[in-house]
Amino acid sequence: MNQLGPVTIDAAPVTDGPLPFALWPAQPRVALGDLGAEPPLPGIVGDLQQSLHGFAQKVMRPIGIELDRLTAEQVVDRGSRLWEFRRGFAELGIDMATLASFDQTELPYVFSVLFEELGWGDSGLAISAGVAMFPHYMAAKFGNDFVARTYPESLVGCWGITEPDRGSDSIDPTRSAAHGLGKPNKPNCVARIGDGKIVINGQKSAWVSNGPIAELCILYCAAETGSGFDPARGAVVVVPLNAPGVSKGKPLEKLGQRPLPQGEIFFNDVTLDIDHLLVAPEDYVKGVYAIHSEANALMGSVFAGCGRAAYELALDYAHERKQGGVPIIRHQDVQRRLFHMARRVEISRALARRVTAFNMNNPLPALQAAMFSKTTSTQHAFEVASDALQMFGGNGLTLEYPVEKILRDARASLIEDGCNEIIAIKGGGMLADPDRLPAL
Ligand SMILES: Cc1cc2nc3c(=O)[nH]c(=O)nc-3n(C[C@H](O)[C@H](O)[C@H](O)COP(=O)(O)OP(=O)(O)OC[C@H]3O[C@@H](n4cnc5c(N)ncnc54)[C@H](O)[C@@H]3O)c2cc1C
Repeated sequence: MNQLGPVTIDAAPVTDGPLPFALWPAQPRVALGDLGAEPPLPGIVGDLQQSLHGFAQKVMRPIGIELDRLTAEQVVDRGSRLWEFRRGFAELGIDMATLASFDQTELPYVFSVLFEELGWGDSGLAISAGVAMFPHYMAAKFGNDFVARTYPESLVGCWGITEPDRGSDSIDPTRSAAHGLGKPNKPNCVARIGDGKIVINGQKSAWVSNGPIAELCILYCAAETGSGFDPARGAVVVVPLNAPGVSKGKPLEKLGQRPLPQGEIFFNDVTLDIDHLLVAPEDYVKGVYAIHSEANALMGSVFAGCGRAAYELALDYAHERKQGGVPIIRHQDVQRRLFHMARRVEISRALARRVTAFNMNNPLPALQAAMFSKTTSTQHAFEVASDALQMFGGNGLTLEYPVEKILRDARASLIEDGCNEIIAIKGGGMLADPDRLPAL
């Protein structure tokens, strides 16, 4: 190091183009921005990122920490700050019309920046905001304008997939991850479709995100066929949760993402007009593929943000905490550990952006690519949060510091939206090229 210390050139070279080598300082050093080695964001996406970050920092982070300490019942209470978060998020004006106003080059950035920033603020609240939009978002994707005409966007949405007897199986309609000798468990939630009506009976498990507060559900059901259960023939239905015959269980107590309300939903002869059908039985496999292509990519961005939050806390703490007479960041091993944390966050973000852009611009989304992103970001978020806790030493284990919460939140993500093992089995199956395989 020279006497003046290293020269830092902030983001300028990236925007102005490469500086000729002869003009470089003797000891070049480039400070990465808040988003690491991110090239400049296009158009108004940079402004959006800034305002989302302000919201995540000032509103989400403190509310998330407060809700984490409450019981699940207290979180959903009308007096809790969960509702302040929901009002604040609504004021950001991110709705279907706004999303539709971005062009095809901006939209993938909008999505990945939006969910990364929300995930940075609080991953449980980020998931709550994401699934709240799901019924309207998916209805628009499937070309169903009945939902937009009939139900206000302000209704809190949820996504009902998991059943008491069908967990991993519920995301495997093709049974490509299932054991060859196994028989499918009976479904807990069944739709009878006919005479212009859908009649739903059964239940979803307590894992439905937003379940206790949701008003509109995008629901997976088995289709009643009269000739036994076929996992590949289901239905995806949009269900208003004030319909006669709908009831709910208690909010679920759990380890991580505690600000995210979760709970069972029960259906007793819930009868709806056929317009509520988003995906018919003959299209079920295709419908699940489409929905999970979106959901897995969303998870990739949220947990890129969650991992980044843990890394930033560790980096700050390493500058503040002194041991051996120096801030711990002076220790080479601490720098090495931070390097690997930052590297994992970079990979998660880059992959989330890339997959979202690919899937939004390709004629069909690649589900296995969205799965790369979900499994990578969640695994990295968990590892980075664990390394961050270690960086805090004993303080990391205490409730006074925010890293233990982030570790619990990240732990939940390895199971959420499908266990990472199942996702990898299914994604691996999609890498096989049937044209190059001999027929069985
Ligand atoms: C924070 C969070 C949010 C969630 N949000 C929602 C939501 O909004 N809506 C919703 O419906 N659900 C939601 N879920 C539920 C989630 O999708 C399920 O928990 C998940 O799919 C796993 O199902 P399970 O818990 O029943 O585990 P199981 O399926 O019982 O799995 C138990 C274990 O067996 C393994 N296993 C199972 N099948 C196989 C196989 N074929 N091969 C190898 N190993 C296997 C699994 O990997 C796992 O380790 C959420 C979960 C969490 C944690």
